[in-house]
Amino acid sequence: TPILFWMRRDLRLSDHEGLSAAAETGRPVIPVFIMDEVVETHGAAPKWRLGLGVEHFAGVLQDIGSRLILRRGPALDVLRDLVSETGAGAVWWSRAYDPAAVARDKKVKGALSDDGIDAQSFKGHVLFEPWTVETKTGGYYKVYTPMWKNVRSRELAKDLPAVKALEAPDKWPSTDKMADWNMGADMQRGADIVAKHIVVGEQAAQARLADFVDENIADYTAARDNMATRGTSMLSENLTYGEISPRQCRHAGWRALHDGKSGAEVFLKELVWREFAYHLAYHTPRIVDKNWREEWDDFPWKDDERAAEIKAWKQGRTGVQLVDAAMREMYVTGYMHNRGRMIVASYLTKHLMTHWKVGQAWFDDCLIDWDPASNAMGWQWSAGSGPDATPFFRVFNPETQAEKFDPNRTYRARYLAELFSDHGQEARDYFDAIPASWNMSPKDDYPKPVVGLSEGRQRALDAYKARGD
Ligand code: FAD
Repeated sequence: TPILFWMRRDLRLSDHEGLSAAAETGRPVIPVFIMDEVVETHGAAPKWRLGLGVEHFAGVLQDIGSRLILRRGPALDVLRDLVSETGAGAVWWSRAYDPAAVARDKKVKGALSDDGIDAQSFKGHVLFEPWTVETKTGGYYKVYTPMWKNVRSRELAKDLPAVKALEAPDKWPSTDKMADWNMGADMQRGADIVAKHIVVGEQAAQARLADFVDENIADYTAARDNMATRGTSMLSENLTYGEISPRQCRHAGWRALHDGKSGAEVFLKELVWREFAYHLAYHTPRIVDKNWREEWDDFPWKDDERAAEIKAWKQGRTGVQLVDAAMREMYVTGYMHNRGRMIVASYLTKHLMTHWKVGQAWFDDCLIDWDPASNAMGWQWSAGSGPDATPFFRVFNPETQAEKFDPNRTYRARYLAELFSDHGQEARDYFDAIPASWNMSPKDDYPKPVVGLSEGRQRALDAYKARGD
């Protein structure tokens, strides 16, 4: 009988445990993607980008003589329908580790197993599954460095070769049309503008990794913090949708390290930050929507989305150049440099005394590399409420950061049309992308700061002291 293979964050053919296992059975395999209850809740940009990834992957499957069946609805209902339509005896998938996906998958596995279906999951999009990494006393890690030390040299099996063919069923079930789903419906920010910056699919992701290893990994340690140049891999976009596996990235990193490219060590470390995020999301699911440290629950953070300061932050017009440049980078490209993410998050939660969940929700909506675990951890790290977080009293000064990480103003000029006559195309694109209701024009005077940097800093520190720890 056929195997239904439920595709999720694993849109690739190579190094794919579940799909390889399905191919090896010699049984017919029916790949399916479901616009399910978890996907429906994604923000605008990730949902749009996922749609493009799925569409691309459907083409890849076609090239190997298979298909991707598209269905919409609650995952369990859809899978049950497909089982009865196709006579499939098995439903297989790659595991996910964030709370929403885990809850969905548990329900599906239990119900299908009760129906007598072989419901099996395979290792998913991490290097080390969260329950395979333990502290010396047997618990999970709440601090990054010991986890890094634990897994740094842990061996992983070789990458699996690409699946070359999948046995087709006698009869394919019907499929929805991707265009009817309109996964870009919420992308009011001009999808064609953001589209200039995306890199979709497995082949492109592999090329990205190869270029990064050839050109950037050796100098990654210092270059990763230079905001104006692309010193990082940009692979977060592809890792998010499983267009490349973390193991392929890790193996490439190790090979580079053996070739004497010392920056590769830091790259390997960053991959483990991603692991740490999933480790935490799995073991402490509250990290995605509650203060990880409960003592932060009574901190006087604001969260009124209508507040002028919050709007200014989202719209990239706080009057703080580096903050505004980074916010516009995200709006217009769907990506923000890691240092930018740390700076705008510190600024929002400290200078603007705004709840990290406001920032998390905006990132959820804007990032094409949106990842439920890394985004939540990044916000709680920045706000001080998370595990192994930066202390709240460490307030990034965006001006000092700009001097250090954008010394020639190249990054700021790329995104701020009002201020720099030599601004980049992205700065102009920004004004084409934003909604008219924002009422912004490149001819405006650059805004005055919504709060003075030292005043905002002091306000945050006073609130922190009043909290009494
Ligand atoms: P590289 O520097 O090339 O790093 C390689 C890979 O390591 C990345 O692709 C990523 O998978 C992983 N990585 C690197 N830094 C981190 C980190 N700090 N935490 C977790 N994994 C990391 N990353 C996301 O993928 N999705 C998010 O939604 C996301 N939200 C964030 C929100 C905030 C507030 C902060 C501070 C960070 C967030 N990050 C997120 C982490 C980080 O900024 C991005 O992973 C990184 O900028 C991606 O660029 P890159 O692929 O060029 O990274």
